[in-house]
Amino acid sequence: MGEGKMKIMKFGGTSVGKAERMHQVSQLITADNEQKIVVLSALSGTTNSLVEISNAMASANKNEAKQFIEKLENHYKEFVKSLLKTDAALESANKVLQEHFEFLYIILKISFSEALNKDILAQGELLSTKLFCIYLTEHNIDHAFLPALEFMTIDSYDEPQVGTIKVKLSQMLKQLGEKKLYITQGYICRNSKGEVDNLKRGGSDYSASLIAAAINASACEIWTDIDGMHNNDPRIVKKTYPIEQLSFDEAAELAYFGAKILHPASIWPAQFYNVPVKLLNTMEPTAKGTLITEKAGSVGAKAIAAKDGITAIRIKSSRMLLAYGFLRKVFEVFEKYRTSIDMVTTSEVAVSVTIDSDVFLKDIIKELEPFGTVEIDSNQTLVSVVGNEIEETKDVMKRLFDSIEPIPVRMVSYGGSKHNVTLLIDRQHKEQTLQLLNTGLFGL
Ligand code: ASP
Ligand code: MG
Repeated sequence: MGEGKMKIMKFGGTSVGKAERMHQVSQLITADNEQKIVVLSALSGTTNSLVEISNAMASANKNEAKQFIEKLENHYKEFVKSLLKTDAALESANKVLQEHFEFLYIILKISFSEALNKDILAQGELLSTKLFCIYLTEHNIDHAFLPALEFMTIDSYDEPQVGTIKVKLSQMLKQLGEKKLYITQGYICRNSKGEVDNLKRGGSDYSASLIAAAINASACEIWTDIDGMHNNDPRIVKKTYPIEQLSFDEAAELAYFGAKILHPASIWPAQFYNVPVKLLNTMEPTAKGTLITEKAGSVGAKAIAAKDGITAIRIKSSRMLLAYGFLRKVFEVFEKYRTSIDMVTTSEVAVSVTIDSDVFLKDIIKELEPFGTVEIDSNQTLVSVVGNEIEETKDVMKRLFDSIEPIPVRMVSYGGSKHNVTLLIDRQHKEQTLQLLNTGLFGL
């Protein structure tokens, strides 16, 4: 590796999904002379198609699976035609397509397993990076293909370890020699059994952040199709604007609470190794985007985000009165079923918690019932107001509650951190709540 720091540039599915987009990406990565690791997602829609193929195979629907594969193959044949011009490049690309689609057709003939599923899901990122490298070669842009399966690993708890990744990645980079550009896959990795695995849906951001941490990068740039994190959900609220600067803590809250632009797990590696993260727009490269660093930039409420599909559980028991150890017993039930709790509120005789996965809800209820009365509210939405030093910004709470006066609020959580207030409401009031808060907090 060179003396100076390298930069990470990660491009999402829409940023590589069309020939002209890949062309744009090649311009962005060659815009300056800095050494870079470029992390690519699969072309937009590909991972969803691979999931469809896998699901069809899992339900022994081989004909349907075959049709999905053919459809995807045609899409790639067209894509390659629009991407490349020279015969040499087209020939290499068709070889790549042949190799990967042959693999999918062969899989059709074998019996389905979870390991095979992961192999199927890995095809998208392998295809996008290989085709992009052929494009770079066609345009005489010097680069090296950096295979993620050789360095990106997860341990037996499915957790990536930056230390392990660092060792393997530096070996790989040494092996490849000094290059200005290294092109690698997001999302895919190897598990502790050495099998192909992945970092879960949307995991390319996580890959980028892990790589940035492992090489102590100068910056981790996440390029998508919007100009940064917005102060509210642009799909729901009419007037929103991109936030210029966020702290890692603020960004983590927002990413978890549904700001789809960044995978929530991708915050910790960058934060722990103190690598600045930038959210940028491939379609509008000169827009400022959002900078995420240790510093928050400004105080007060900065953004509102919402997360649906929440279940609230209330456990009422007079035995809780003045008793110690009650909460521990309640929490242990959730721990047993590996269900994480997002929000907690307590009164002297009751405790309410929220969960975002009700896979084990029935079992959890059954084990909670001996403690008291258990009430369930499903179809709830968490609305989080995120900002810096909210507790010291006096009028935030007043404006917040004044603005949502017509909304019935099921739970409120405040004071857990200095940068958020979370409300739990019924899903049906979400749109109205986000709009009211936008007016109340940002005057929009
Ligand atoms: N291609 C994967 C997905 O669609 C990973 C990613 O794009 O981040 O989930
Ligand atoms: Mg994404």
